[in-house]
This record gives sequence, structure tokens and C-alpha cells, in this order.
Amino acid sequence: MAQSTTELQTQTFLKSLGFPALMVHDAQEHFDFTRSGRRILVIGPMGSGKTEFSSRVWRDSKVALKKSDTVAALTTTGEADRRRIFFIRSMLDKGRFPDYPDDALAFRGGFERLGDSIAHISNSFELEEVLEKTPRAGTWIIDEASFYDERIAYVVSNASKSRGLNFIFPTLILNFRKDIFNHTARLLLETATEIIPLTAYCEHKDCIVDSLYTYRYYSVDGEECPALYFDPLIIVGGDTHKDNPLEPNYCTRCDKHHYLPGKEYTYLNLKPLGEKAATGQIEPLLEELYNIKNDLTASQLYQQLQKRYDHEEDQRINMNALKVPLIAERALMFLFAEQNLLTEDQLIAITEKLDLNRDYLSRTLANNRRPVNLDQKVMWDLL
Ligand SMILES: [Zn+2]
Repeated sequence: MAQSTTELQTQTFLKSLGFPALMVHDAQEHFDFTRSGRRILVIGPMGSGKTEFSSRVWRDSKVALKKSDTVAALTTTGEADRRRIFFIRSMLDKGRFPDYPDDALAFRGGFERLGDSIAHISNSFELEEVLEKTPRAGTWIIDEASFYDERIAYVVSNASKSRGLNFIFPTLILNFRKDIFNHTARLLLETATEIIPLTAYCEHKDCIVDSLYTYRYYSVDGEECPALYFDPLIIVGGDTHKDNPLEPNYCTRCDKHHYLPGKEYTYLNLKPLGEKAATGQIEPLLEELYNIKNDLTASQLYQQLQKRYDHEEDQRINMNALKVPLIAERALMFLFAEQNLLTEDQLIAITEKLDLNRDYLSRTLANNRRPVNLDQKVMWDLL
């Protein structure tokens, strides 16, 4: 993994002309189709211009393709000409932009039509098929590559090394917890040759700082309620603002306005309760989940957050996290699906005993690739 050296070169060059280093900004470059074997991660939150970046490369290619054979010789390895761009988008995205044609690369303020230079895929195996069927395309733009299976990182790095192909990945790299999005994102980072970070303005109304964090919040009675740290990683939703407190909203925020309550609680209290349950002592966890659901102020969660946030005016918004419904369900899923501390029987028994919301649990567990049939019966005294 190497960072682009262009910025350093620009700085050195301008400095040699006598410009003070402080005045130097990044140059807006056109895409260099002569260089081969590149794997470029374009990372940034929503609204940072990842799609605009892709459409600029697309427009550059139109100019480059008009050049002579002398240029073609520089941009071609074997059959593949890197001025020929192919765009890959997720099958799930089909129909996401109902106002545009299926081959459109849509961005704010317009769209480009890609004709037969676009394919929709579901996984890395389908990408291999498209790569094979399209030997003349030399630059591949794969939208939101982190959403595919891990093997995609090696499929692209092998194709890039053996055939000189360039790959561009406009993708989210951090989740709402400020962690690396998933294993695929981590492998893409490891196998990339360059990284281009893009930022967006913090969306807080009092702020105009350049930011790169994705913030998840719920809207409850019109109030902004930050998601707790242990909120399930994947909650399927659309792109529009939602007032349904079960569906999260996302926006870009700077460090100061990115509220993430409950991280300390997750590791200091919740996870140890799960570890105890894993050794057979389920009662302390049951008590905490009961309190979260029925007697919130008695819960360790409430006490932790109150101690930490209730005394400072600008931090009090973190307490709004407790207004989001189904917190016990979310905590239970964190221990089961992410931490693997509870057995399926324990999950089912706790759901039954505390009369938790089965619909929400089974839907969210399935989205997080841990489907469970919650209607099974388990014997409580066998746990
Ligand atoms: Zn801010």
C-alpha cells in the first residue's frame, strides 16, 4: 500500500520556484492512462464526490481515445487498452435511481450514459466472468467494492498484475463506528497501490469543517438521536430521510459532531455480560436487558451514559440515543451476531423470556447474514 507521491512532487516543484509551502494545494489532474497495474481506492463519505471522480475519468477517456496510435501504444498491454473503461455496479443498485436509464452513471447535477460499458454483478465470481468476456477494457471502475465478498480483492489484484489492468474503487471505507467497514474493505486497503481520500463538509448546521466520518442517527419525534455504538452494523434502508425510528439516517460529520455514545459501555459492561453468559451464567445479562427494556434508569447503560454526558451542555445530545426503540434487541444482536458470545438457543430463550420484538430481530439478523428462526422452542432449564 503506497500513498500517491504527486502531492510531494508538486510541493517540491513549486517550492523550487519560490512559492511558500503553505500555499500549495493538490493539483486537479487528468487520469494517466499510460500507467498500468494500478489499484486506486477513492475513499470518502457520502457527498464527497466519489461518483464525480468516476465520471471525470470517464470523460478523460473520451478525450484520450481520440489520440493517435502513438498514444494507444502507451496505454495498451496485450489486448487491454486502459483508455477503454468498464463500469461495475451492484445488482442491488439496479432500480436505485429510478429517474435515470439503467446504464447511467448518475451524480449530482447530471449523468453520463455508459451504453454497453456497464454491468451489474452480485459477487466476485460474476466479476471474473465479466472480466473474461471483456478483454479489451483496461480500466475498471468498481462502485462500492466493499459491499462484495472478500475474494474480490484478490480477483482484482491478480487481474491487475497479470494483465496490466487499472482498477478504481470509489467506496466507503469507514462504518458509523469509525471502524474499517468490513473484511473486504480491509483487504482492498491492503492490496491497493494508491489511495485518494475525499472529504465533504460536516453536515451539522453550525459547522463547515472538512470531514470524512459517516454518522448514523435516528429521528424520534423530530429529534436527532445518535445510534449507540453496538447498533447492528447492517440495517437496510434507502437514501431518503426517515422519521421511522427503526430506520437509520446517515450523514457526514466531523469528529466533534460525530456522536457515538455507548462505546465505553459496550466494552466495559455489555461484552463482559455476554462473556459470562458464554460460560453459562446468563442471569446478569438477562437482568441488564430486562432493565433496558422495562426500567431504563436502572440499567448499567443509562448510568454509564448519564455519568459521561449528562453534565455537559454540548454533550447532552448523546443521551438522546436512549430514545431510540428496541435497544435491548440491538444489544442482544451485537453479542450474538458480532461477538459470537451467545448460542442460538440462548438468543431464542432470551427473546421469549423478555418478549422481545421478533420481527425486528429476525429481519436484522438475516441482513447481517445470521438468520435465525425465532419461533423455535427451547428448554429454558437446559441453558
Ligand atoms: Zn462539524
